Amino acid sequence: SLTAEEAIWRSNALEKDDLEALRKVSRQEYLKKREAKKLEELRDEIEDEQYLFEGVELTEAERRKLRYKKEIYELLTKRRTADASEIGEYRMPDAYDVEGVNQEKRFAVALQPYRDGGGSGGKMNPFAEQDAWEEHQIGKATVKFGSKDQKQSADNYEFVFEDQIDFIKASVMEGDKIEDEMLTESLEESKANFTLEKLKEERKTLPIYPYRDELLKAVRDHQVLIIVGETGSGKTTQIPQYLHEDGYTKVGKIGCTQPRRVAAMSVAARVSQEMGVKLGHEVGYSIRFEDCTSYKTVLKYMTDGMLLREFLGEPDLAGYSVIMVDEAHERTLSTDILFGLVKDVARFRPDLKLLISSATLDAEKFSDYFDSAPIFKIPGRRYPVEIHYTKAPEADYLDAAIVTALQIHVTQPPGDILVFLTGEEEIETAEEILKHRTRGLGTKIAELMICPIYANLPTDMQAKIFEPTPEGARKVVLATNIAETSLTIDGIKYVIDPGFCKMKSYNPHTGMESLLVTPISKASANQRAGRSGRTGPGKCFRLYTAYNYYHDLEDNTVPEIQRTNLVNVVLTLKSLGIHDLLNFDFMDPPPSEALLKALELLYALGALNKLGELTKVGRRMAEFPLDPMLSKMIVASDKYKCSEEIITIAAMLSIGNSIFYRPKDKQVHADTARMRFHEGNVGDHIALLKVYNDWKACDYGTMWCYENYVQVRSMRRARDIRDQLEGLLERVEIEPTSSLNDLEAIKKAITAGSLRMPSFCSLFLSFDELKDATSVNCLPDYLLTFAFATPASGFFPHSARLQKNASYGTVKHPQTVYLHPSSGLAQVEPLPRWVIYHELVLTTKEYMRQVTELKSEWLVEIAPHYYELKA
Ligand code: ADP
Ligand code: MG
Repeated sequence: SLTAEEAIWRSNALEKDDLEALRKVSRQEYLKKREAKKLEELRDEIEDEQYLFEGVELTEAERRKLRYKKEIYELLTKRRTADASEIGEYRMPDAYDVEGVNQEKRFAVALQPYRDGGGSGGKMNPFAEQDAWEEHQIGKATVKFGSKDQKQSADNYEFVFEDQIDFIKASVMEGDKIEDEMLTESLEESKANFTLEKLKEERKTLPIYPYRDELLKAVRDHQVLIIVGETGSGKTTQIPQYLHEDGYTKVGKIGCTQPRRVAAMSVAARVSQEMGVKLGHEVGYSIRFEDCTSYKTVLKYMTDGMLLREFLGEPDLAGYSVIMVDEAHERTLSTDILFGLVKDVARFRPDLKLLISSATLDAEKFSDYFDSAPIFKIPGRRYPVEIHYTKAPEADYLDAAIVTALQIHVTQPPGDILVFLTGEEEIETAEEILKHRTRGLGTKIAELMICPIYANLPTDMQAKIFEPTPEGARKVVLATNIAETSLTIDGIKYVIDPGFCKMKSYNPHTGMESLLVTPISKASANQRAGRSGRTGPGKCFRLYTAYNYYHDLEDNTVPEIQRTNLVNVVLTLKSLGIHDLLNFDFMDPPPSEALLKALELLYALGALNKLGELTKVGRRMAEFPLDPMLSKMIVASDKYKCSEEIITIAAMLSIGNSIFYRPKDKQVHADTARMRFHEGNVGDHIALLKVYNDWKACDYGTMWCYENYVQVRSMRRARDIRDQLEGLLERVEIEPTSSLNDLEAIKKAITAGSLRMPSFCSLFLSFDELKDATSVNCLPDYLLTFAFATPASGFFPHSARLQKNASYGTVKHPQTVYLHPSSGLAQVEPLPRWVIYHELVLTTKEYMRQVTELKSEWLVEIAPHYYELKA
């Protein structure tokens, strides 16, 4: 029978022999071979060394090394001969299964009357149901937020702000009944003074500390261990240190993966502080475009994506003795792929310890996946959290969040506030508004410290959220999802949860991917609420109704792998020598449609050949830690002799949206400065190039940045990324060439980034249409439409065509989009007919950001096949 992957190649009219070639050696077989080879190598080494060292007095270290090698050798030999069932399934002794708190269950109990009364048939008028329930709640259990018992402050508060939001206290998420005043006290105290001694003491107060020895024993006894513990219990910062103290770093590094860059950096910084070493020495981190490690590094925090890249150079992770896949519950794309890879590696490296740690209690699934690995539960330490819902749905959650924050600030006792927002822009807006509304109130209200935290926030500003709040002031942390489980901020007593996060969503039918603001899951909502009950009883204000919570939110977040474009995954796996993707051991396999779409797109980009093998282009692309379209653009720049310019553009695009800034009082100046780079309507990509080159011409100066309203930090980062891309150019043997005076060449390379032309005409145009095209010497518009709209294409995933009212229609799935106001093309008359864009962002409308005009004539040149035909 035909696998789906085969089917797609067959649909490309392949020969039978080609299909045979597709049935590649599976990864399992490949690994078996590697294992055998490793055994042989080890045996040789041991023999050699025994011979070499005969009669020589060995040092302790040498002896240890030799002993270690022998142990591994024996283990491997045993493993090879052992029956799989002998290695067997085991469970952790019951003692480890300390009872966790099922908050969801308790929560449900608290709301029983509602659930029973409402019934799950759902035939009733939903609003009637909601009303009835809310009536019930108001009558029964509740204190309205800011009501009688806070009369005093409430009056005061009304005087200050006109807006207010009504909340209903619905339930209390119970804590763990641990009265631990000592803990709070010692934490409070130690905040004041960051000496090493204090930090050491503080480490001992973490919930994980009493389980240190038990944990180490479990790691010794088992190769794979699932660790579950409440956020803030010390998993990320402590476990690697314990293992280090226990000697695991004598034979290799300890690697700990994080789904987020900021988490990797911040945790590494914290751990280096706790260990009293310089960041980047014994403790370091590695994130995309930034490697802060050295030969000394033994504890390495990194993003999951970075470990994935390390597999390219070191498929058996030989440098590591322990891998900890942290925040496993997040189920990011890279984490999911890592699962498959580390599971595999663990089988032929019995000496490698594997820890999978997660903040949620549903660890069974991880355990099942890792051949029934034992589960180690760290009992939580959680105070009760009151849950409040809004009485009615809020139309503008950002505004509601701000109003609520202010409401809390003026009516509630001391304690910091954590607000979950969806992204950088939103956070900046909220910061502005908060500052604006509190300005001029002087001493009427206490000081409000506003601390934003998101992925692109500069490192020095990230540290601010961890600084203790000054006496009499209140901190409000404006965070993305990063504060849900990745970062623990002490002192939070109030959580404001608008119920949204930004999530990648992907439509495999159209191949479109977009970052959308999406409702969170119940699991996330509860994680968020839990952030307020870490050091004392807390309150969570949900900016949605209880009805929404129960009826509109999914139970769990869908793993990223099931809602994303798999192009990068496929490219990485292919370059790791894994061919049979449809049978790869995924915990939750992606829809095969999405997998096929990715194969198809890579084929279209020329990264794979008809046999599904990596081509030279594909191998080159895989070297770049970038979106495949950007990688392709770089690879294509070779042909257009503009690799210098293209890597600059790729680096600038990688920075995201933080290049220009517009101070409120100087917006006109800022806009004028920005528009200078757009002179000649060159498009946003070229404008970015100009920004960079101008800056470079001024010797990468800071003054230049001030004068042009450009963020110097972002520019430095772009420079850094560019340097690295330059290094990679050499690795893939692309000559650094420049065509600065030929902007068209550069634009063509950008365009070529999203298409592969040779088979374009023959695949999708009829002969008559081709003849037509020939006679007008360029691809006419309707042919373009045709090519864009062909369902199988995927050639121009990021392109759009002008419609009426200055709007554009995306080609792949019909959707109306607009030029982002920051685009230089937004002012152009008439608007370009065709454009390609770097990304879609949804704010008030769906906007295209970083846009360049696409001229149909270029396709003639980018399509050599077509040219041949004409000749
Ligand atoms: P977990 O991984 O179990 O969620 P962590 O190991 O991240 O827990 O955090 C344990 C404790 O370490 C937190 O309660 C917090 O007090 C402290 N901590 C972690 N990171 C930092 C940091 N960057 N700055 C200050 N304190 C931190
Ligand atoms: Mg953690």
